[in-house]
Amino acid sequence: MQLYKSQPLKVYNSLNGQKEVFESISEGYVGMYVCGPTVYSNVHLGNCRTFMSFDMIFRYLKHLGYKVRYVRNITDAGHLENDADEGEDKIAKKARLERIEPMEVVQRYTVDFHTILQKFNFLPPSIEPTATGHIIEQIEIIKDIIEKGFAYEINGSVYFNVPKFNDSHNYGKLSGRKLEDMISNTRELTAQDEKKSPQDFALWKKAEPQHIMRWPSPWGDGFPGWHLECTAMSTKYLGKTFDIHGGGMDLKFPHHECEIAQAEASNGTSPVKYWMHANMLTMNGKKMAKSTGNNILPEEIFTGENNILSKAFSPTVVRFFMMQAHYTSILDLSNDALLASEKGYTKLMDAINAIEALNTSNTSTFDVSAWRQKCYDAMNDDFNSPTLIAHLFEAVKQINALKEGKASITESDKTLLQETLNAFVFDVLGLENKNTSATDSDKLPDVVSLLIQLRKEARDNKDFATSDKIRDQLAALGIQLKDGKDGTTFSVS
Ligand SMILES: [Zn+2]
Repeated sequence: MQLYKSQPLKVYNSLNGQKEVFESISEGYVGMYVCGPTVYSNVHLGNCRTFMSFDMIFRYLKHLGYKVRYVRNITDAGHLENDADEGEDKIAKKARLERIEPMEVVQRYTVDFHTILQKFNFLPPSIEPTATGHIIEQIEIIKDIIEKGFAYEINGSVYFNVPKFNDSHNYGKLSGRKLEDMISNTRELTAQDEKKSPQDFALWKKAEPQHIMRWPSPWGDGFPGWHLECTAMSTKYLGKTFDIHGGGMDLKFPHHECEIAQAEASNGTSPVKYWMHANMLTMNGKKMAKSTGNNILPEEIFTGENNILSKAFSPTVVRFFMMQAHYTSILDLSNDALLASEKGYTKLMDAINAIEALNTSNTSTFDVSAWRQKCYDAMNDDFNSPTLIAHLFEAVKQINALKEGKASITESDKTLLQETLNAFVFDVLGLENKNTSATDSDKLPDVVSLLIQLRKEARDNKDFATSDKIRDQLAALGIQLKDGKDGTTFSVS
């Protein structure tokens, strides 16, 4: 029997704000679509968190025995600056600035995206389609929506008619907005605006002569609107109605609202049974943004080459840190939080590595079956990974008591304990057993700090022979010192 039959899962559905019992449309199968990255720059850590939340959800659904088709797209055209209908295409802009082909930009940052996700131990999605690979499908949907009366063509562009759609449907049902409020809160259209209403959004945009990413269409050369690709690709690979649509909270409006409108206008049915949204990552209590400098790239965390953290952290420790928060909660990244996660991770791995050698006896002082069910209950409660981790540490406590001879366990309970820990820690949370436990590596920062201090004293005493010797010999060991205005930092290669 598949596990999902005995482990009823509940998911929080953003569409109605309710935690609902999860019932897949076809028994045993789950179709899941997650909005992927726009590949015009290195992947943000915040985006990594969103994709990691859905990687964990994908892993747990598979663990429960579902056959999951997971589609996560790559946006390689049509995403304009400010997520709006005006402005330059994000990828074309980067290509213009760097004087390279748009597809070089796409290739470079798709590779970066995959490299980072691999370091974080993501499972690849079942299908990873691109917007440019589905222009024909997008044109077909536009033709269909025009035919059904919910879109209009003007000067080579096509817009979705939101007020017309709202007459017979409910535009705003996902984000909880009402069209009347939206109308009273927006500026009047100006003479240059082509749209009939400010709420209308582009399905197809006419390409100006300088726009290099362009395709022929019944309305002339142009490119698809950003929202349309997800409707085209989710419908193509998952059908007109599928189980789960996920993405970052910031995509709820307008992106996902527009996806619903497009699909309902074209297919006549609501596209998604469960909408799921992952919350954002902040750093030191503030929103992460390139413009304010409150930003860090995943690679900078792994190498330690940054001015924010005291040391490097491995991808699996960062993953453990992210799993310690529920995917719908805001998570704050800080040096202290990562240090605490590293400690916790090491404790967890030490316990897992110790199980094999534990002695067994005729009785168990720990109810392993009840503990195992608590782990499932946590995950069945809308993928509550922090509660799961709390239960995992209950097991760590028991393993340590067993190690010290203060508890006992039977052979079969020991096997169940080991299997359950392996399943949740490695298969579901996606952690890797890197065994950073060697307390040696924990002491490294302190040892290097001591050497940095001695080097500084030598330099202050003009003893450059000694200060250079410290720097060079550390370099020979793969530890680079970097002198900055706030003192000396180090990185390990
Ligand atoms: Zn999307």
